[in-house]
Amino acid sequence: MKIDNVEYSTFSGWIDPPADVLPSLDGDLTCEVAVIGGGMGGMATALRLAERGQDVVLLEAEFCGYGSSSRNGGQIASVPGGDLRLLSLFYPRKVPGMVRLAENSAGFVEDLIKTRDIDCDYEPNGLAFAAVGHGQMLRTRTLAAILRRDGGRGHVGTSEELGIPRTFVGGMREAVGGMLNPGKLSRGVRRALISSPAQVFERTKVTDVRRHGGKVVLSTPGGTVRANKVVLATNAYSGEWDITPKRLSVPMWLIEMETEPIAPERLAALDWSSRSGVITQHQVMEHYRLTARGTIVFGVRRVERGKTYPLPAKAPDRKLVEELAGAFATRFPALADVAVERAWGGWIAITSSWLSIAGRIEDDIHYSIACNGHGLAQAPYVGSLIADLIVDGSRHEDLDGIWAEKPKFPPFTMVGPRGLRMVWALDRFTDLINGSRRRALRAAARPR
Ligand SMILES: Cc1cc2nc3c(=O)[nH]c(=O)nc-3n(C[C@H](O)[C@H](O)[C@H](O)COP(=O)(O)OP(=O)(O)OC[C@H]3O[C@@H](n4cnc5c(N)ncnc54)[C@H](O)[C@@H]3O)c2cc1C
Repeated sequence: MKIDNVEYSTFSGWIDPPADVLPSLDGDLTCEVAVIGGGMGGMATALRLAERGQDVVLLEAEFCGYGSSSRNGGQIASVPGGDLRLLSLFYPRKVPGMVRLAENSAGFVEDLIKTRDIDCDYEPNGLAFAAVGHGQMLRTRTLAAILRRDGGRGHVGTSEELGIPRTFVGGMREAVGGMLNPGKLSRGVRRALISSPAQVFERTKVTDVRRHGGKVVLSTPGGTVRANKVVLATNAYSGEWDITPKRLSVPMWLIEMETEPIAPERLAALDWSSRSGVITQHQVMEHYRLTARGTIVFGVRRVERGKTYPLPAKAPDRKLVEELAGAFATRFPALADVAVERAWGGWIAITSSWLSIAGRIEDDIHYSIACNGHGLAQAPYVGSLIADLIVDGSRHEDLDGIWAEKPKFPPFTMVGPRGLRMVWALDRFTDLINGSRRRALRAAARPR
């Protein structure tokens, strides 16, 4: 691939920052509920609270949609993130709830798009787990069996049956969900939030969260907010305050890239008839998806752990871009001459259990990490359930399934530099085996 003219961004390749960023908080305020963070999670929480008549204030450090909500791959998944085999081995009783949560989250976002009339290029074509070789195909069949056992749905087939490029052996298509432009989705939800009765302050970073005089007091450079209840919706940035539960999550940096527009006949030659986004079955996935602008967006393959807070605003480095471009050329040899037009990245939060988590610190501060790389739909759905909990006092069964009774979490394994290198090496070993097998098959098929 050509990577000489890549536009490196510290925001997103999907959309530009808004031209109408709202003023920051200037003075002191009192409210019933304060939401910190204006990603899909925080915005959906505040929107639901406002809709249900609560006096709600949302504080966002940059602008709503600044975080991973506008930067992700735009794939609405209806299957939990992480390795379902490991999850069902270690948390067999939690998995059915996670499966239900993931599927209902996808439905929630579809409804949000419809009811708010958000133009975000949504195509409900289901995400496909794609196998790059026979080992990954076996893994996909196992995952599909676990999914079925635990109440989920997925259709296993060859690449031809799933309508995905023949470079993949086959895979499993998820039953609900699809792909969209996440920048446009976040912007649409931001618009809905700004027109709601919620008070929204952008460029307002919360620097401290403390309890004082029976209230939770949020400090910002321009003033304070005193609230009866608070929702922490800061995703990967959550570790910034003393009040955040220890070991709630670790921040990981991942990247996305977009090709230049590709001629329709070259795209048609890929036999990607379903247009389903594909995620490979490596330990750390690669994902590839078509866009409404005639390009392919692809990403991840390598993750990097954030070490200190505040998390830096980063642009991808060239080496990472080179590696991911190399992977693209392997998966799509017919498009190996295409140029990469832009590259960006973002921070996600990974929990030590790989389960989505929501909970409460005492009875006034709610938090959730509904993510592990699949939060585009889960974060807003869980946010809206937290809003309902605040108003009704009772938990929906989907929230119950991920509820942490105490804010205490186990230590992390395999997320240090050595662990991440090992995982990466394992994935490249898989690629090596698949590469030699493909070459051997091609040689055997050649006429003698
Ligand atoms: C490269 C990439 C690809 C991904 N691909 C997918 C995908 O295809 N499908 C999928 O389901 N998920 C995907 N994800 C994950 C998904 O984007 C996230 O899980 C989801 O957007 C999380 O939403 P959120 O609202 O919790 O967090 P965010 O969108 O990160 O929002 C958090 C907000 O909090 C604000 N904030 C932080 N600190 C403060 C503070 N002190 N005061 C005030 N505000 C603060 C931030 O500015 C930010 O706007 C991907 C993520 C990345 C980075």
